[in-house]
Amino acid sequence: MKTVHTLEDVRWITDDWRRAGETVAVVPTMGALHAGHMSLVEAARSWADRVIVWIFVNPKQFDNPDDLEKYPRHMDRDATMLARAGVDLLYAPRLEEVYPAGFSTRVSVAGVSEGLCGAGRPGHFDGVATVVTKIFTQTRPDRAYFGQKDFQQLQVVSRLVRDLDLGVEIIGCPTVREADGLALSSRNERLTEDERRKAPALYRALCRAAEALREGAHVAETLAEARLEIVSAGFASVEYLELRAENGLAPLDRLSEPARLLAAAHIGAVRLIDNVPVTP
Ligand code: AMP
Repeated sequence: MKTVHTLEDVRWITDDWRRAGETVAVVPTMGALHAGHMSLVEAARSWADRVIVWIFVNPKQFDNPDDLEKYPRHMDRDATMLARAGVDLLYAPRLEEVYPAGFSTRVSVAGVSEGLCGAGRPGHFDGVATVVTKIFTQTRPDRAYFGQKDFQQLQVVSRLVRDLDLGVEIIGCPTVREADGLALSSRNERLTEDERRKAPALYRALCRAAEALREGAHVAETLAEARLEIVSAGFASVEYLELRAENGLAPLDRLSEPARLLAAAHIGAVRLIDNVPVTP
């Protein structure tokens, strides 16, 4: 595996691949890799001739300076995991490689970025859409792999690619979980032992609510019960818990089409998100 830090090096390597007619997949990440990220790498590996993993803690998608500062960084360990997984290229750009001096462009996707995480984290999805545009223009992949764990992000990226004709096929991969159901996340590292024990309650409550909705339960009542369940299990607060259309994320007050239950909740100093499908 080659590791590079500049656009010039990426272009040099990927131009060769392209000349040889090889397909290229990119897996965008912020590092501190875990089995969730590695499942995207495996999926990319199984399809593409060449796999690029992008590692960059993108300051533009953090609405909270403390969260940015505390975000875990393990570049050496990440590089070892990726080399073992057969990745061709690790691109860990320097800040100025992504945002050169004077950078003044913002990519903003309306609609799907509104509400849910877009409400609680102002500017977050503009930061995501801007960096994903840069990832695609810098690496020029055929395909890009994203996790359904960040379901709203996946919708924002899919919309972005359609709207701007970016010519990248977006693949959404299932959420990888711990044995007790907790979705893997780089932020789980920041949970205390006690919080870690309580954290799976978020997924449990989502599953229980999804099951009730499938059986015809009233939406608002079911969501209220799930919120109560999460707080009773030791979470400090539930930021949102909503039923949205799987396709386009319109709010639903009845289970009239394939849907997702999405939630964000705070436990100690950590904000966790998760979602589950709900099919009528
Ligand atoms: P991040 O490094 O948190 O920005 O995540 C990079 C990519 O990995 C995103 O597309 C995430 O949706 C995906 N991802 C994060 N956690 C998981 C997980 N538990 N299962 C599957 N994909 C994940």
